[in-house]
Amino acid sequence: MEVLNVKNIQEIYQAENGEISALKNISFTAQKGELISIVGPSGCGKSTLLSILAGLLKPTGGEVYVKGEKVNGVSPHIGYMMQKDSLLDWRNIYKNVMFGLEVRGMMQPEYRERAEKLLKTYGLYEFKDKYPSQLSGGMRQRVALIRTLAINPDILLLDEAFSALDYQTRLTVTDDVYRILKQEQVTTIMVTHDIPESISMGDKVLIFSQRPAEIKEVLEIDFEDPDRTPISCRNNPKFSRYFDHIWRELSANE
Ligand code: ADP
Repeated sequence: MEVLNVKNIQEIYQAENGEISALKNISFTAQKGELISIVGPSGCGKSTLLSILAGLLKPTGGEVYVKGEKVNGVSPHIGYMMQKDSLLDWRNIYKNVMFGLEVRGMMQPEYRERAEKLLKTYGLYEFKDKYPSQLSGGMRQRVALIRTLAINPDILLLDEAFSALDYQTRLTVTDDVYRILKQEQVTTIMVTHDIPESISMGDKVLIFSQRPAEIKEVLEIDFEDPDRTPISCRNNPKFSRYFDHIWRELSANE
């Protein structure tokens, strides 16, 4: 089932010293449960696109449809996770997860139960009374993800969500997150500057050009392994071929 349809998006910022064209002719679709990575040179327009998908920024041209409905303003059905986990230090884990529901006015029992189930399924329930400062960076990121998934979003947007973590933690967390997203069949759009991360998580990688960003290529990632995980696929012989390909495409920009 098609969850996201991005049609011919264009964004031109009005800056003090003239116009800055950030996005040009961006079109793609995402199916239910699909994870699409986006890589591109820094400053090309990736975060701009996520802001448009989240309904935070109105595009200069084009439309975004989520489950057939045009995005028009901030949608409660889109989850957004950024680099900083933005957990509230004065609330315990349980109350942090519930906060995501509170701010959206989604305190109905079905959502609260969903949140509790997610905490239990993903090994965080026993930490529910702890405070964010008592958890490791990796666990905090998992809590932030559960908080975002509690609202049962149609689409999850990840903007460099793991880049603040140290390398080792990042590998473990992306493995965890991948399993959760696939198990819950969450449609995800992930922006990253890390080429290996884009391959190891993605079903597809969209390679963006320099600003104004256009989609240079849609690279299908297929390891022919139904049990792939971000860590296991790094040993797949296709991994380095995908890496070289993306590396070359991105270097060709310079
Ligand atoms: P990326 O996420 O790929 O690093 P961004 O989407 O953050 O890129 O930014 C794309 C371009 O648009 C950059 O050149 C940036 O300076 C410019 N830009 C971003 N936000 C604004 C804004 N509010 N006003 C003017 N220019 C902006």
